Amino acid sequence: MAMQQTEQIWLKKVECPLCYEEFQTENIWQGKVSVLEEYPDLGKRYQGTNPLYYSVWVCPSCYYADFRGDEFLATGKIVDEAFEEDFEILSMVAERADFRKPRTFALAVASYKLAILVAKHKQSSHARIGTFNLRLAWLYRSIKKRQQEKKYLQYTLDYYLKAFEAEDQPDFGNLSEGGITYLLGELYRQTGNMRQAVNFFQKVVNDKELDTEPKYIKLARFQWESLKDTPSVEDDPEDEKGNDSEN
Ligand SMILES: [Zn+2]
Repeated sequence: MAMQQTEQIWLKKVECPLCYEEFQTENIWQGKVSVLEEYPDLGKRYQGTNPLYYSVWVCPSCYYADFRGDEFLATGKIVDEAFEEDFEILSMVAERADFRKPRTFALAVASYKLAILVAKHKQSSHARIGTFNLRLAWLYRSIKKRQQEKKYLQYTLDYYLKAFEAEDQPDFGNLSEGGITYLLGELYRQTGNMRQAVNFFQKVVNDKELDTEPKYIKLARFQWESLKDTPSVEDDPEDEKGNDSEN
């Protein structure tokens, strides 16, 4: 089956900035996206078409991949030869995936994995690589693959923390400092580090300097409250030697 324009999807021809192959991409009309629910980590549950499937464009011939639009067209500091050295890995990740075909769940997953590999070659920020991982976690959540979801949430947390350490102005997209502080707390909560989760939720609620939007203060307060009866918050000695609070 070839890609097709539908009520929700429009097609656009793109030239790969790396190998100059021309190919068709599927794109979703934002107005046609129907959100059923927002999860505490800001992921969403959709009715019908999941827009996460279409966020990443992939060149079907060289597997160069990045967020759609301008991000995709900017190769940045990518070095052709170094990229080609990874072609075997790229092919393996893509597993004979044909990106000329309409996006399926498997293609969507492959698109994010490729984007993560490419991002490393582009020397993209840790924040950005974290965001690809977060979306991959959300994708797995959409089909209830809990183990995979959790694995990528943990990667997201690790990359976001690295971003905070190493990057002057981490690129967290539209998220404010208060928003990202809340999200870190939530990622800690979901990956089982309740002590750190509470630390971050407290910061969102109490630190006026952050100038956090009411939405995140409300969410942080709610999650903090929900953890108050969790014994591990008080009793987990593991967290004492956590390295994150010392930086
Ligand atoms: Zn290409």
